[in-house]
Amino acid sequence: MRLNSHFLELKDSYLFKRIAQQVNEYKTENPDAEILRLGIGDVTRPLVPAVISAMEKAVLEMGGAATFRGYDDAGTGYGFLRSAVSKYYADKGVTVGEDEIIVSDGAKSDLGNILDIFADDSVALIPDPVYPAYVDTNVMNGSRIIYMNGSEVNGFLPTPDKSVTADVIYLCSPNNPTGAVYTKAQLQLWVDYANETGAVILFDAAYEAFVTDKSLPTSIFEIGGARTCAIEICSLSKLAGFTGVRCGYTIVPAELKSADGISLLALWKRRQTTKFNGVSYITQRGAEAVFSAAGLAQCRENIAYYLGNAKIIGDALSGLGIGYRGGENSPYIWFTVPGGDSWAYFGRLLRERNIVGTPGAGFGSNGEGYMRLTAFGSRENTEKAAARLKTQSG
Ligand code: PLP
Repeated sequence: MRLNSHFLELKDSYLFKRIAQQVNEYKTENPDAEILRLGIGDVTRPLVPAVISAMEKAVLEMGGAATFRGYDDAGTGYGFLRSAVSKYYADKGVTVGEDEIIVSDGAKSDLGNILDIFADDSVALIPDPVYPAYVDTNVMNGSRIIYMNGSEVNGFLPTPDKSVTADVIYLCSPNNPTGAVYTKAQLQLWVDYANETGAVILFDAAYEAFVTDKSLPTSIFEIGGARTCAIEICSLSKLAGFTGVRCGYTIVPAELKSADGISLLALWKRRQTTKFNGVSYITQRGAEAVFSAAGLAQCRENIAYYLGNAKIIGDALSGLGIGYRGGENSPYIWFTVPGGDSWAYFGRLLRERNIVGTPGAGFGSNGEGYMRLTAFGSRENTEKAAARLKTQSG
């Protein structure tokens, strides 16, 4: 056999595995320590009642001969869910056709799988720091990666450098890990640049539901010209706590074509229907309920709860004189670590405060010197963590 040698080029261990390893070691040595996990971006609030009752109903349907469903014939999501997503966008003032929405088991799968439709020697332009899966999936694929620098100077929101060209551009807004959100004017620069250079933007909107500032965009399709250069990848994981249920969707506009006129929507559908057999009916009914008036109101209560947690963490850091970013339109708090070494600070926070954060270096070299804390914990644990942070000696 011969292996895909690009897998051997991956850094030895995925960020969260390395964190888990260090936490487990500490836990073995200190079995009584009460460890507060503000590291991984997983949610903790349960599914909302509207989702539960829709899923219960769907389970019962699956148990009746007349209502049982097998394969989703289209393989790209049931019409009822695609219609609900389309309406969600219409309410934001964005027109997205139901047939441009392809339902999946989450954003991570789509972000990795979409590379199937691009040339092997594609050049990817990826922000640094950012969600590590963009880099790892491109490394696995053997693509060339060009990094664009996020820094204090640009507020961790890089804008196009006309001297650089790429095939695929990754934008993540609200950003994981920094919590920064692009303005419409900044996204317009990206859309214009992509249209001029023939690149495609992969817009990761996984955290769109956390945007509370109405002037900020929550979809790339709010930007003029995006339909000819952008794909939006989104998820119900953070909007509705579907991290364990698994549902997301990708929007590929009908106008998006390669230089030789081939439709990316057609290719993506072909890819999905060949390698994926769709999301379970029960899950899709739960997802549909997320977008109902009651479902959205209930999900927004959970988001407000998490944003309340973010404020508690942010206030604790401010009290220590530590400036931070994020937390207002994002569940992530991003701050400069005392001493500048993020893995060293991660270790100190774990040992001295029993708090698990995520070292910024895990999100790219520009993340060194920073730490990410998440607001996805329980209120009780967040308050405990804030109290422990306040006792920090520096
Ligand atoms: N995109 C970003 C920026 C994320 O942070 C995450 C998960 O944390 C994902 C995508 C993955 O989402 P999903 O659970 O839908 O696979």
